[in-house]
Amino acid sequence: MQNRISCSADRLGLLTSEMIQAISDASAFQIAHRYLTANRVRIVEADDSQITSAVVGNAGLYEQNIRLKDGHLVSKCSCALTDEPMCRHCIAVLLEYQRWAKPRQSRKTSYANESLTTPQGGPSDNGKRATVPSFTADVKLSDVMVFLEWLQPAMKALERQEPLPAPPALAPGAISMWIQAINNLEDRRRESEEVMTSLESQLKDRDADVGHLTQQLQTSLRESNAAQTTTQELRREVASYKEVLTRVSELTAEIVRHAAQMRAVTGDMLQKGSHLEKLVSSFKDVAETLQSAVVLPSHE
Ligand SMILES: [Zn+2]
Repeated sequence: MQNRISCSADRLGLLTSEMIQAISDASAFQIAHRYLTANRVRIVEADDSQITSAVVGNAGLYEQNIRLKDGHLVSKCSCALTDEPMCRHCIAVLLEYQRWAKPRQSRKTSYANESLTTPQGGPSDNGKRATVPSFTADVKLSDVMVFLEWLQPAMKALERQEPLPAPPALAPGAISMWIQAINNLEDRRRESEEVMTSLESQLKDRDADVGHLTQQLQTSLRESNAAQTTTQELRREVASYKEVLTRVSELTAEIVRHAAQMRAVTGDMLQKGSHLEKLVSSFKDVAETLQSAVVLPSHE
């Protein structure tokens, strides 16, 4: 998408982070800042009137072209976002440009004479693009294109968690270092995944242990409940035995009491028996006396 913002600065280098933030949507600016700190912004080619760049977005790589022309900032991005007045990728590029341009400006002033006399800048387009950034000395545009070509399938492979495609054969330099860095990150991701898998299996083992312990605990609880029931039954039995014992001791006391009464009654009876015996013997005496009294007259 393309956007056009009026801009009072006549050089991109005059734009400050504050100015960029002032014209940006707050959340887009925040995301752009995250892209910047995550090192996801690459300036391919730039001078104070235009920037060609690439940003690794959340769903792939997007290319930007930002121009400062006739008091307007014209930004173009290959993304489909409709952020106004500029997408997060273009904001990130403008922020990156502040960082990117500073060391070059100081270098330019220290080699000012050299830049002025060197004809290699060439008076193309009325000399407007006279500054060829030294970035191209570190990174060749052809290498960048090769890298970007590799990056697309690499991103897809990363999304699908498949092994990264073989890196292109490049001379040692910034690009091969980027590829190496991506490979290292992927290796680290794989290692983390392995650690995660082992942690997951450990977690499963722990879960199984916990399940086992829970079962044992339930069995113990059941046993303890059964033991409690048995104890209650035993208590009830003991209580009923106690009742029986109390009854038995009461009966014993009654029997002892009855026995004492019987003894008293027997004593009474014996006494009465001896009285009767005495009475019988005195009757006998009377009878004998009477008999003799009756017999005597018959002899006369
Ligand atoms: Zn964009």
